[in-house]
Amino acid sequence: MLTALILSVVAMTAIVAGRYLAVSGAFAWLTNRRIPGLYGDRRVQIRNEIGWSLASAFIYAAPAGILAWGWQTRSWTKIYSNTADYPLWWLPASVLVYLLLHDCWFYWTHRIMHRPSIYKKMHAVHHASRDPTAWAAMSFHPWESITGAVLVPALVLLIPIHYGALLVVLLIMTVMGVTNHMGWELFPKWLVQGPAGRWLITASHHQRHHEKHLCNFGLYFRFWDRLCGTDRGLGDFSYVRRPPLRQS
Ligand SMILES: [Zn+2]
Ligand SMILES: [Zn+2]
Repeated sequence: MLTALILSVVAMTAIVAGRYLAVSGAFAWLTNRRIPGLYGDRRVQIRNEIGWSLASAFIYAAPAGILAWGWQTRSWTKIYSNTADYPLWWLPASVLVYLLLHDCWFYWTHRIMHRPSIYKKMHAVHHASRDPTAWAAMSFHPWESITGAVLVPALVLLIPIHYGALLVVLLIMTVMGVTNHMGWELFPKWLVQGPAGRWLITASHHQRHHEKHLCNFGLYFRFWDRLCGTDRGLGDFSYVRRPPLRQS
């Protein structure tokens, strides 16, 4: 039993670390194609971002690996594999519910981590990337990683979700985590500056958080920032069309 549990955690660590390296690597490659030189002077920063992110991969994988083992051998979780077990509408609804709850958890824990008494201990590592790169998606101090690592495992114990829907949640989580830190806007202007962009968070929104700190705390949606008066609009990426500013 203990061997199976350890193997599950080791396998999950390899999956989370591999997922991070593949997705961040792909978007870093895309960045180099779209805006050559944008990351050119940030080798040390990127090395630090990768180091912290790989440590975070283990912290994220430990509870996930334990739960994956418990799901398979002890039926601990509410993850289901037969789509007939719940109404079909619950498939997309469960994705939305998970994202809304994750967003709420992230907003409030993130806001608390900006309190001066704990900022340095928990969150300063992430903000060491003043202009983050695609490698900064999981660049967290271990204390911060723990706050991020517990939520999805807690949700799968409480709220039913099909494993396919859970994969969609994890995919959105991974891609948005990377693209929001990429240093340029991937999504088209009509979306970012249109009606949908008033409620959805993309890189333009999160970049402003890295610039100004005490605003734009959200993860996927601007709902909590708007409600609590912490939304300061979108950052300006027009500079990325002028590579000389970024090239040393
Ligand atoms: Zn960030
Ligand atoms: Zn922050």
